[in-house]
Amino acid sequence: FNSKLPNVGTTIFTVMSALAKEHHALNLSQGFPNYPSSQKLNDFVTNAMNNGYNQYAPMAGNLELRMAIAHKYELLYNSSYHPEKEITVTAGATQAIYTIISAFVRPNDEVIIFKPAYDCYEPAVEINGGQTIPIQLSAPNYKVNWEEVASKISSQTKMIIINSPHNPSGTIWSKEDMLQLQKLTNNTNIIVLSDEVYEHIVFDDAQHQSACLFEDLKQRSFITASFGKTFHNTGWKIGYCCAPEILMSEFRKVHQFNVFSVHHPSQKGISDYMQDSKTYLGLNAFFQQKRDLFLNLISESRFKFQPSQGTYFQVLDYSKITDDYDVDFAKRLTRDFKIAAIPLSVFNDNGKDDKVLRFCFAKTDDTLIRASEILCKI
Ligand code: PMP
Ligand code: GLN
Repeated sequence: FNSKLPNVGTTIFTVMSALAKEHHALNLSQGFPNYPSSQKLNDFVTNAMNNGYNQYAPMAGNLELRMAIAHKYELLYNSSYHPEKEITVTAGATQAIYTIISAFVRPNDEVIIFKPAYDCYEPAVEINGGQTIPIQLSAPNYKVNWEEVASKISSQTKMIIINSPHNPSGTIWSKEDMLQLQKLTNNTNIIVLSDEVYEHIVFDDAQHQSACLFEDLKQRSFITASFGKTFHNTGWKIGYCCAPEILMSEFRKVHQFNVFSVHHPSQKGISDYMQDSKTYLGLNAFFQQKRDLFLNLISESRFKFQPSQGTYFQVLDYSKITDDYDVDFAKRLTRDFKIAAIPLSVFNDNGKDDKVLRFCFAKTDDTLIRASEILCKI
């Protein structure tokens, strides 16, 4: 047969986690916490199972959860989404992203993405016959040149995918960036997919610039989110998306046939847990402590860095150590030094290599201490 995705291999996250396991290395590659999720949240889910939440959830998601999500948008952004019409619970942000792209992108449509880009965007565009138009950003600041963006928008542009806080670089977009995007998309039919899975992980008192804060942008945007990131349980694969009703009703035409609905007890448990807003508002401080610990411990190493501005990832520049291609260096670190990280070139256009690796600091302090001891010896 003729592959529909001839250039797609196995995701780097699977490759590096498998290599870490094979070599008994500390795994700071794939992004997931190595400490337990909250007992209280687990208990809420168990209670949901014991109290009858074991059959299909409504197609758009458990309504109490959608109301809790709507409340969060009011509280944090003073922005309203109608829980019944404008919020849908999904199997992680990944399914939301795939479904949004499938619902709107037709053959030959263009989708602008900023590189380095999280790796689920491009294949979803390609399998739907669309064409990605990459805009390459560069280490260490990953700043957007808005004139370049303007020059890449055409009559074929169906969608622009943005991601702040940004995986893998750990940078965030400013209000000015969002205003530029709003200006460029005004009076167009472009849909914006704003991947905000790290919205609650922003450091040094910076503010997350959600697409819903910009009224014209909000009208054309899907926002995607992931409880896996917020509640330290990536294995549950529960997320959601929000969008104005006119967009969300198209989304649901596809969602109802590619998953219908997702794990009901976790939805009910998360909804009960979210009644206390401290459960998500405390995340910035929780991860800032980890970022600061990690950076303090490696400050004497030969790695160079700009502190992560958001996400639970820190990019380290290894150019003082070697000129190795980043994929080779990441594999060598795993094999010989027993620490695994993600090379950024796999997210770049044509494998551009800035000699940087991404380390996940959603780890116990003990793991971060052991990781930095290794990094200081390299
Ligand atoms: N987008 C980004 C930027 C991510 O980092 C991730 C998870 N690593 C996802 C989407 C997918 O989220 P989920 O695990 O909820 O599917
Ligand atoms: N989002 C996680 C990361 O960036 C990986 C998720 C996955 O393995 N698909 O590391």
